[in-house]
Amino acid sequence: MDKSRKKIDVVKDLFAKHSHLFACPICNANMYMTEPAIFQCYNRHNFDLARQGYVNLLTGRVKAGKYDRQLFAARLALNQSGFFSPLLAALYASVVAHSSQQGAHPLRLLDAGCGEGSHLAHLAAALDSNSLEVVAVGLDLAKDGIRLAAASYPGVLWCVADLARCPLRANQWDVILNIFSPANYAEFRRLLKPHGIVVKVIPGPHYLQELRSALFGDTAKATYKNDGSRQQFAQQFTLLGEERVNYQWEMLPSSLELLLQMTPLAWSAGEAALEAVRQRGLPQITVDARILVGTAEN
Ligand SMILES: [Zn+2]
Repeated sequence: MDKSRKKIDVVKDLFAKHSHLFACPICNANMYMTEPAIFQCYNRHNFDLARQGYVNLLTGRVKAGKYDRQLFAARLALNQSGFFSPLLAALYASVVAHSSQQGAHPLRLLDAGCGEGSHLAHLAAALDSNSLEVVAVGLDLAKDGIRLAAASYPGVLWCVADLARCPLRANQWDVILNIFSPANYAEFRRLLKPHGIVVKVIPGPHYLQELRSALFGDTAKATYKNDGSRQQFAQQFTLLGEERVNYQWEMLPSSLELLLQMTPLAWSAGEAALEAVRQRGLPQITVDARILVGTAEN
């Protein structure tokens, strides 16, 4: 009991310290922390701090679909096995190369659609160990993801929130991350500081190709169709950088099982196909992604 009480006090202090970054999702007023642990706007809209260490800033019920606890637990475990480490290293290099933020102020880093938080926590820790002070906020619609993030990675401001109406003040963010996740570009533009950057990660054509062909054979689903994500991004932002990351990751059976539990690919595959993949195993899996870096400046 003492332990969880301590944790909520730590998180309460964190949100109190950075309350000026937030805006009420109902009326857009400024926010502050009040007793015992309520995040409140100046028009008295209240949001409780969960004892697990996050704030739920949703204003209504939103369906998170298949994004449940089991999926996020699998994603967390796969992340912690290092599956995305080379991608994260490239992402870190992109942020360092393109972020114009320097010295005097902490780097404000927002992950819009952070899921179970591993990517953001990893990046914030890497920046921090490079002596860059970071204020990191993770937003996701899925409460199960945020709850797991808060349990796994202290020090980040974790919020359940709707990306279409981010509970954040305008023009405050140096870096907005959007990793394998739907975007809301109008919101991103509103949130960015002048010279702030958006760093988006989209799947490349060979992303998880071994799993695709094992599950779907020669059908259309066996290849990843680029859905115009890159083009949409380039229409919204001035492209500062673009990098392709491609590597093969050696899959242990335990990692393969995690991947099957977390990927939307498995949802549309039949049980028989999934079972066949489990039986046969996949010795390696390709991670193919594109990192896009853009700014709202012309
Ligand atoms: Zn309000």
